[in-house]
Amino acid sequence: MTNTVTAFIGLGSNLATPSQQINGARSAIAATAGIQELTFSSLYQSAPMGPKDQPDYVNAVMAIATELTPTALLHCLQGIENEHGRVRTGERWGPRTLDLDLLLYGDQQIHLPDLIVPHIGIADREFVLYPLYEIAPDLHVPGKGRLSDLVANCPLRGLQRLIQS
Ligand code: ATP
Ligand code: CA
Ligand code: CA
Ligand code: CA
Repeated sequence: MTNTVTAFIGLGSNLATPSQQINGARSAIAATAGIQELTFSSLYQSAPMGPKDQPDYVNAVMAIATELTPTALLHCLQGIENEHGRVRTGERWGPRTLDLDLLLYGDQQIHLPDLIVPHIGIADREFVLYPLYEIAPDLHVPGKGRLSDLVANCPLRGLQRLIQS
């Protein structure tokens, strides 16, 4: 690949054997033309945002090199969500088999109707910041500051790194 950008994807699942959803999504992302996997974090377990009457989540962060545009990458991630049985109920932060968020795309700041980068929740979500810090501790988040500072200001809220078997 030529002219690649480093991007970071946040993965989350809390239905239908979440760790398998995350691993399947990782394979599907890496198998996509124009995307190459660089690094994958540990899996983490987190308490749900929003409605509490749903299972805990499994989360991870993946670094990729990509020649896709940000919009093409978003559409590709949405296609993989759909292939993993994502059903859009309209309930905000409701349970889902797979959620793939584009966290960062190089050092770009993007404000399109369907795509905001850095991702809107990046600076205050422990299940994003800690896995991101695990794989890219020196990162600077455009418009938000040093990742190490964001992590230092973000409580764990019960986040646990899962031991992989
Ligand atoms: P949150 O965005 O707060 O994490 P969510 O992941 O549950 O919540 P979704 O229902 O998955 O929200 O997505 C809602 C919309 O967010 C999508 O239709 C998409 O167009 C938009 N969106 C904007 N910026 C991004 C981004 N950086 N990554 C993924 N989706 C984004
Ligand atoms: Ca590939
Ligand atoms: Ca999300
Ligand atoms: Ca999402």
